[in-house]
Amino acid sequence: MIIGVPSEIKNHEYRVGLVPASVQELTARGHKVNIQAGAGLGINIDDAAYQKAGANIVGSAQDVFAGSEMIVKVKEPLAQERAMLKEDQLLFTYLHLAPDVPQTDDLIDSGAVCVAYETVTSNTGALPLLAPMSEVAGRMAIQAGAHCLEKSNLGRGMLLGGVSGVEPAKVVIIGGGVVGRNAAQMAVGMYADVAVLDNNIDTLRQIDAQFSGRVKTVFSNQYNLEKYVADADLVIGGVLIPGAAAPKLVTRAMISGMKPGSAIVDVAIDQGGCFETSVATTHAEPTFIVDDVVHYCVANMPGAVARTSTFALNNATLPFVLQLANQGYKQALLANPHLLNGLNVIHGKLTNQSVGESQAKQY
Ligand code: NAD
Repeated sequence: MIIGVPSEIKNHEYRVGLVPASVQELTARGHKVNIQAGAGLGINIDDAAYQKAGANIVGSAQDVFAGSEMIVKVKEPLAQERAMLKEDQLLFTYLHLAPDVPQTDDLIDSGAVCVAYETVTSNTGALPLLAPMSEVAGRMAIQAGAHCLEKSNLGRGMLLGGVSGVEPAKVVIIGGGVVGRNAAQMAVGMYADVAVLDNNIDTLRQIDAQFSGRVKTVFSNQYNLEKYVADADLVIGGVLIPGAAAPKLVTRAMISGMKPGSAIVDVAIDQGGCFETSVATTHAEPTFIVDDVVHYCVANMPGAVARTSTFALNNATLPFVLQLANQGYKQALLANPHLLNGLNVIHGKLTNQSVGESQAKQY
């Protein structure tokens, strides 16, 4: 199969669909890979590295789209990219179609076969192509939260781990999923005092076992949320109710009851946020203050560490890219029900139920 990777053109998007190691896995199996010149430069991967892995460097996005059977990207295609999609061409990338009517309409009109990373499933019912970005965001949440606690960012002037003879900061993590567990790992590693709240007992059991008592596990209800948030120096929000907006678990009153200079990192901001006071921010201006509490609410945290994020994403997408390339989309989608769950649009038809329901479209 001929696989094409264009440069990402969304504002401040430096990730790339395939890294040289993934290209090599494809070329070793007889596939041809077209990479747009300079596609990896934002994360310090030059064209020579791609050529060494067997890629063909092409001059423009038009050349990539015109000359490839499968397009592998990171972000959803923008209007100018959608205009280049061809009938029966395979597109494999994040799409997030539900709130995006113009994109959905264009993909339907294109006649292309569009498989979305975010709806591919695994045997455990998880979303394996979203998980790597949650790992990144969870780990980064502690790094970001630590900065928020510094005086220059209007924080309390606390070091997460304290020092000998000085107590550590209290870190409270709401939601013990992929984000929460990765945040807990980093916070424990920095010697903070860590508690995780979740409303799933099995999740709390797993965390208790994973951290051998080094992390307090707390059942998430209003009583415990009020108690732990009031006492925290840093609160991380990582809850998710699949397919729904994040619940506003931390109210304005709870925020105003926090210690002055304490901080919150609302990782769930991409689903609306789990703090009542959260408003989405960008990497250019990541924080704001409400009631003396520093708020960090960046909706695309992995973008700040685009190099790590690209490699993490590639590790997860590569098996699916290989299956699509080796078998062709028809056979691959029939053979792999998890990949089939990723199918959102095919030959002018919408196939994803939640996108159809959210846009009142036939699916
Ligand atoms: P996950 O499904 O692995 O974990 C979510 C956890 O929330 C689950 O353990 C669930 O039991 C728990 N939960 C649900 N309701 C709760 C409640 N009332 N109280 C406490 N816990 C509750 O999800 P995840 O992969 O960890 O993602 C978490 C959020 O982070 C999602 O909204 C995701 O989109 C977001 N995210 C944001 C960024 C970013 O850049 N801001 C990056 C990656 C992921």
